[in-house]
Amino acid sequence: MVSYADIERLKAYGPQGDGWVLSVYLDVDQSKASNLKRGFETVLQNLLREVERGVDEHAREEFAANRARVLRFLQSYEPRKKGVVIFSDVRHEFWWDRELPVLLPNLARFERAPYLRPLIEVLDEYERYGVVLIDKEKARLFTVHLGEIEEHEAVFDDVPRRTVTTSMDRLWSQKNLQRHHDMHVHWHATHVAERLRELVERYHFDRLIIGGTVQAVGELLRVLPKRLSERVAGTISVPVTASVSDVLAEVLRLEEQVERQTEHQLVESLLTAAGKGERAVVGPTATLEALHEGRVWRLIYVGNHALMGSACAQCGALFWEPQRETCWYCGGKLEAVPDFLDRVLERTLALGGSVEEVRGSAAEKLKAAGGLGAFLRY
Ligand SMILES: [Zn+2]
Repeated sequence: MVSYADIERLKAYGPQGDGWVLSVYLDVDQSKASNLKRGFETVLQNLLREVERGVDEHAREEFAANRARVLRFLQSYEPRKKGVVIFSDVRHEFWWDRELPVLLPNLARFERAPYLRPLIEVLDEYERYGVVLIDKEKARLFTVHLGEIEEHEAVFDDVPRRTVTTSMDRLWSQKNLQRHHDMHVHWHATHVAERLRELVERYHFDRLIIGGTVQAVGELLRVLPKRLSERVAGTISVPVTASVSDVLAEVLRLEEQVERQTEHQLVESLLTAAGKGERAVVGPTATLEALHEGRVWRLIYVGNHALMGSACAQCGALFWEPQRETCWYCGGKLEAVPDFLDRVLERTLALGGSVEEVRGSAAEKLKAAGGLGAFLRY
């Protein structure tokens, strides 16, 4: 998991006077033919060769040392996710690597500080969930981001716990006891809600998920301040003592539902905007044209859509129409491209756009409109 603390630490890793950092972002997605048989190693070697050309003469040796270390790491690396990020500064024995379950652009840089922008963009793009489990006297907090979970212990510890104080000489009626219990749940929920106001800032979560006992969950939802209740993505049914992995499983299930819903709305608004000609296009021809013009801001696509196309051998422009023989832009010869969709996604990322896959009913709808589309910058 990449935490905010990680990013702060990387940001603080400034130039140590004479430092150089090799930053590498690599697409290692094993569902792509080009990445099988460790094709990503070749991709990196080519990237590094390009970077090397621009390296300052005094830093040549240092670059070579960092390159050797990164390549050594990659040789024994077995990809389990879609992308990997590496920062290396051999001279100061600095090393940082993480795998991410998201598509990354292939790039390498050798600069005075870690090149963080693509990493920060990816982290910002994916929602961070805060998860609160609550019963009448306890509460636990977790954050879930990019499919990984982290528990933040003791954050509710100083929330006052009201213990039932019945004196032996005083017999409470059943009704009084019930009222006492309800008050108790109310008190506890109020304090947890109060504490959540600051936790949302501290852990930067975008959405909130609540679980625990039915009564406590209901009470917490009732007393949440508006700013927080607007962020509630849903509730999960797990006991407050649930294991971290059980909590994660429930959150992922809920997230899946929320995502399907969001994707559905996304495709709806794409089709509407494109229909009105408001900074959006759908269908391969219009989307590729916009991509070529550098206007694609957010590409929306159906993952398993079989998209055939070709690329200009001269200028690299991408074309969907298989029947074309020459490039519409420069007259160059067109060559068929296997994994055409992958090429389109790579180009989008390289031009600073983002890509988003839709599934389920949203995918069916987009498929009928050509399988991809884009929101445009202008
Ligand atoms: Zn061309």
